[in-house]
Amino acid sequence: MAYVFAPPAQVAVPVVGSNDLFAVRRIYCVGRNYAEHAKEMGFSDREPPFFFMKPADSLVVVPTGQIGEMAYPMGTQNYHHEIELVAAIGIGGREIKAADALRHVWGYAVGLDMTRRDCQFAMRDKGRPWELGKAFDQSAPIGPITPVSTCGQITSGTIHLDVNGAKRQSSDVSKLIWNVAETIEHLSAYFELAPGDLIYTGTPEGVGAVVKGDLLEGRVDGLGALKVRVV
Ligand code: MN
Repeated sequence: MAYVFAPPAQVAVPVVGSNDLFAVRRIYCVGRNYAEHAKEMGFSDREPPFFFMKPADSLVVVPTGQIGEMAYPMGTQNYHHEIELVAAIGIGGREIKAADALRHVWGYAVGLDMTRRDCQFAMRDKGRPWELGKAFDQSAPIGPITPVSTCGQITSGTIHLDVNGAKRQSSDVSKLIWNVAETIEHLSAYFELAPGDLIYTGTPEGVGAVVKGDLLEGRVDGLGALKVRVV
């Protein structure tokens, strides 16, 4: 038997300090996981984490030292940046407890959860799924993955985004409402995690619109920068 058409290439992210690649299976994202961002979205109560997904092939992979390009997407007038810490899963499992969760993390990267905010709000306000707002092509830029063996567990440190050299978002990973270990506990109670899964852990306050030509530079302490331009 043969495939009726050529299967898509495996999506993979470079690994810092190595020629190896991290093969991606799924992309999970956490919604409203910093208090100040929840407030700017109109919510104030602490609630259990909730999740949405992006397709693996929505990644825009940006190797170390390069500037990636992402096309301004169709179907929006309000295209937003969300800088996020990304946890890369190396050991799968289900019903993982927080106390045991960090051993499942293989590495970390800087990511952007790009969002068609107008579409997201239109869907949210009607109680409809968020795919139009979140799961579009090129919606998930990501820098190279740094192995935990190099960077250690990222539980605190600055998370920051500049657009055209001006500060837009700045916070600290320690302000995550649900930290990486707790997020894995909640997520793995509903989905069996597997090697290759990425978790976009949520964005701090300061989200805003970008337009064609803008240069986005994201950083998390201990990880390589992510630079990507809207084209
Ligand atoms: Mn997000």
